[in-house]
Amino acid sequence: MKKIAVFCIAIFIAGAIFATDKVYVIKEGDTLFQISIETGVSVDKLIEYNNLSDANLIIAGRELIVSEYTYEDLNEQLVMAVLWYQTSGEFRALSYQAFNMAKMLFDEDLENHPDETATRAVIVDIDETILNNIPWEAGQIGTDNTYPYNFVKWCGERVAEPQPGATEFLNYVAEKGGEVFYISNRKEILKKMTMDNLKKTGFPDVDEEHVMLSKTTFDKEPRRKIVSENYRIVVLLGDNLNDFSSVFSVESIEDRSSSVDQMKEYWGTKFVVLPNPIYGDWENAVYNWNWNLNAEEKNEERKRHLIVWPAK
Ligand SMILES: [Mg+2]
Repeated sequence: MKKIAVFCIAIFIAGAIFATDKVYVIKEGDTLFQISIETGVSVDKLIEYNNLSDANLIIAGRELIVSEYTYEDLNEQLVMAVLWYQTSGEFRALSYQAFNMAKMLFDEDLENHPDETATRAVIVDIDETILNNIPWEAGQIGTDNTYPYNFVKWCGERVAEPQPGATEFLNYVAEKGGEVFYISNRKEILKKMTMDNLKKTGFPDVDEEHVMLSKTTFDKEPRRKIVSENYRIVVLLGDNLNDFSSVFSVESIEDRSSSVDQMKEYWGTKFVVLPNPIYGDWENAVYNWNWNLNAEEKNEERKRHLIVWPAK
């Protein structure tokens, strides 16, 4: 029935056309079948994109959506941030800077508190703090996929590289009698592969006690509390505000910024941040924590939050 209909000249009620849709202007005598051949978009997709309830008539001069805004389109926006992360000397410099600063803080604590009896601890997040998963991000570019597509498979490969300066710093902590706790929101099912990857990179303290993944909550505070009960936490490293304190368990962009301001004495003295322009809670905040927005809506929210000059 559908095959017969597409050869007819038909009228239809087109779906709403957004600025990001790619459109085809219908010519006199066109059929969906001809348009499909011309645009390379299947007849079924043309029907779907345009909400065609009756594919019997199309009208010359009207616009037909031939491509909706997809994750493949949205993923194009990853290119510059991923490129910066993977190729810039500046990224590497920032990473070394973070771990050098953490080492200074650790040394300072050793020097200033020589009589401390509790074992010193350093808490680190894993992803984009000490391990680099950006090849997986780069793999999304040019595809219609998004997180968590293939992330488990990526973790299973155990090939994430250490961030510049991470291995040296964490082993320095171990040499000086400290212990490293890995508090990550990777899921428990990823534990074995995560621990294998951490061991492969030469990080210390990679065992059941020190690798604390997400069992029931993404809130890291209860895990930090377990560490603080028996250790002296000297420094925390992360790429996301939730890696540092529950003070940052706020959602809006404005509240996140003001909580960072409120804790300004802690940055570089207790908390050390690594850059992550690719993903994180900052992105969730842009979507008002509605991760289920479609690609079109995410694109709109991203653009809507830009501070633009001159004003449009
Ligand atoms: Mg992280």
